[in-house]
Amino acid sequence: MAESSPQIPTDVPTAARVYDVMLGGKDNYAVDRAVAEGSLAIMPELREIALHNRAMLHRVIRYLAEEEGITQFLDLGSGLPTVRNTHEVAQEVNPQAHVVYVDIDPIVLAHGRAILADNANTTVVTADIRKPGELLARPEVRALIDFDQPVCIMLVGILHHLGDDENPGEIVKVLRDAAPRGSFFFITNFTRLGDAPESVALEKQLLEQLGTGRVRTPAELAAFFDGLEILQPGLVPLPLWRPDTPVLDAGTIDVRFMTGGVGRKP
Ligand code: SAM
Repeated sequence: MAESSPQIPTDVPTAARVYDVMLGGKDNYAVDRAVAEGSLAIMPELREIALHNRAMLHRVIRYLAEEEGITQFLDLGSGLPTVRNTHEVAQEVNPQAHVVYVDIDPIVLAHGRAILADNANTTVVTADIRKPGELLARPEVRALIDFDQPVCIMLVGILHHLGDDENPGEIVKVLRDAAPRGSFFFITNFTRLGDAPESVALEKQLLEQLGTGRVRTPAELAAFFDGLEILQPGLVPLPLWRPDTPVLDAGTIDVRFMTGGVGRKP
């Protein structure tokens, strides 16, 4: 269990810590585990879904670092450090790659600082993506990300924590306008499944217990990629994005519940 800290409330659940439960981490509290158990009761596949999300992250970062020569990564809503983080994958390809982790939850900074203490090319910033202009102006971000050079902006498993009233499309637009040509956007989001009522039930439970949760249709996800060239194979269930090994059954909920893709700013 995580150590308690005055800045880290332990009596209300947070998205970062609930996700940590799903990934089998130790940085969570009873309130987080209760939300995770409630979610798993609705959709038992959620643990596998979290692993698919991490596995796609590894494939995308490796591809962008190796094949597209991307050397800067802005990981928004990065979550708690876990097994094989963005900087580990990117710096395996290029030890000089710069990675900035951003999360609203101060526990991410508390744990990230210790892990990154001796890594000058990586930093953790506590900020809210609902204020993208402020976030982009932060000196810690500017110190490692040069917005005159292509950057990968990651919105992995975060936009489904924003309601429509928080205008995620506008947030993506601000980020897109700030990024130079040749930049990449990597986005994943919970997907509304017409044939699986649990996708709606999960949204309701997350909204009630976490105060945040929005399952989106494929068309709503596609709108986040407006103005971008979507890389092959398109916006697809996560395991189907350039898999390392063939996906034997693409019809199961664990495969289909999250959709993601990568777009390039032309
Ligand atoms: N990106 C990681 C991944 O996909 O493995 C972690 C995803 S986790 C499900 C979502 C993260 O988004 C949480 O750590 C949460 O604290 C963060 N988050 C939610 N709303 C945010 C906001 N408005 N600004 C910054 N981070 C936010």
